[in-house]
Amino acid sequence: MARLSIEEVSVDFGGIHALRDVTFELESGSIVGLIGPNGAGKSTLLNCVSGITRPSRGRVRLDEKVLSELPPASVAGCGIGRVFQHPELVADLSVQENLLIACHRSLGYGLVSELLKLPNMWKAERDAARRVEEVLGRLGLSDSAELTIRNLPYGHRKLVDLGRALLMDIRFLLLDEPIAGLNDAEVAKLRDLLLRLREELGLGILVVEHNMPFVSRLCDRLVVLDLGRLIANGAPADVLSAPKVMASYLGEDA
Ligand code: ADP
Ligand code: MG
Repeated sequence: MARLSIEEVSVDFGGIHALRDVTFELESGSIVGLIGPNGAGKSTLLNCVSGITRPSRGRVRLDEKVLSELPPASVAGCGIGRVFQHPELVADLSVQENLLIACHRSLGYGLVSELLKLPNMWKAERDAARRVEEVLGRLGLSDSAELTIRNLPYGHRKLVDLGRALLMDIRFLLLDEPIAGLNDAEVAKLRDLLLRLREELGLGILVVEHNMPFVSRLCDRLVVLDLGRLIANGAPADVLSAPKVMASYLGEDA
């Protein structure tokens, strides 16, 4: 059981207060939706957790470890995976090859053993192939392993990107607007997949998403940001019927 704590986090960009004193927690095995109008600070918060943006004040902790003092690569090494809005994959390589590349980044054998093809490298290669196979199975992509990324539907590319995160042995997964560009069938499939990842791997999931039916059916809890401030944190039904949450969204429409 691990806990990700966002503690009194503020982020200033020049005169813009993108986040003001935001505090909430996310435990492994829970799925939290981060919602709020455009410009509320949602992406900035994900950036703070993944180490891309350093808080101006406050901190992010994984259990006792302070993540907000580490560079992004070290944050990833602590088991925080991030799926971006637009997957960055090598278009001319296959699904399997793209995932093997992700593995190699985390394998950690040196140049010398690579040149000499030492036994530990062969073992590492076999382990990588096995892990890729397992992740492909999890994603329901085993039949697409040999397909080139450029011939893959957009929804499948997003799954491959998620696969890259899974190969990093993550404990928490951050997703920024994962269903943008997906059709209804792909959305339903992604929701089932995220629920299964929580069930089978005990992942904690933090998802930024505009689609209210999607978040309320997926998440245990919703956190609402408005102009950088946390204005609600609770069960989806309670949060979505709270007057100040409705007012914040109505304000956006008006
Ligand atoms: P959301 O994802 O909720 O739409 P963002 O986190 O992207 O909101 O942005 C929050 C606020 O911070 C906005 O006013 C945005 O213009 C500003 N902002 C975000 N990133 C930067 C940046 N790198 N430099 C300056 N301002 C930024
Ligand atoms: Mg955003």
